[in-house]
Amino acid sequence: MNKKRVAVLAVQGAFVEHEKMLESLGAECIELRQKSDLSQDYDALVLPGGESTVQGKLLKELDMFDTLKSQIEEGMPVLATCAGLILLAEHLCNDKRTYFATLPITVRRNAYGRQLGSFYTEGNLKGIGKVPMTFIRAPYIELVKGNVEVLGKVDGNIIAVRYHNQIALSFHPELDSDARIHQAFLDMISNSVERVG
Ligand code: GLN
Repeated sequence: MNKKRVAVLAVQGAFVEHEKMLESLGAECIELRQKSDLSQDYDALVLPGGESTVQGKLLKELDMFDTLKSQIEEGMPVLATCAGLILLAEHLCNDKRTYFATLPITVRRNAYGRQLGSFYTEGNLKGIGKVPMTFIRAPYIELVKGNVEVLGKVDGNIIAVRYHNQIALSFHPELDSDARIHQAFLDMISNSVERVG
C-alpha cells in the first residue's frame, strides 16, 4: 500500500522524536500546528507527551479540538503517549479537567510523585515483548472500563492500553531507540485501512 501519512500534534511537547521514529520506519509525517493543517489527508494521529493542560488549552484556542475529537471518534488510529494519554482519558482522578474523553479509563496525572518524577525501566507489552520504558512525570491508569485492553503494567499499575483505534501509553517510546511500538502502530494503520477499503 501507499506510504502511510501520520499527523503528529505539534502544538507543544515531544513531537519531533515521534516524527523521527515514524520516518525511520518509512512513514510520512505532517505536523498539526494550526486549524488549517487539519484539512490535509492523513491516515493516523499521534498525540505526544508534554503538558496536557497546555496542549488542551492550545487545542481549544487554536480551534483544533472538535475536529480532532471527531476524527478519533470516527475511528482514526491514534497513538498517544503520556500527556496524550491524559488528553484521551474519560476521567482524571486528581484533576477536574478532561479533554477528548474518548478512552474509557481513569487516569492519575503525575502519578509517581515528585521524588520519582522520571525513571527508566523495561517491561512487557502484550504482542510485542520486553521494551524500554522512559517515564517522565508520568500518569498511570487507575481503572479501565468495558472493552479496554490492558497491554502492560509496571509495578502493578497499568501503563499501556488499547481501545479499538486508540493506543495509549504512560511512557515515551519515542525517546528510546526501540521502534517496535511505532511499527506495531503502523501495522494497525494498515489493518484499519484494509478493513475500511
Ligand atoms: N505531567 C504531564 C501532564 O500532566 C505529562 C508528562 C509527559 O507527557 N511526559 O500533562
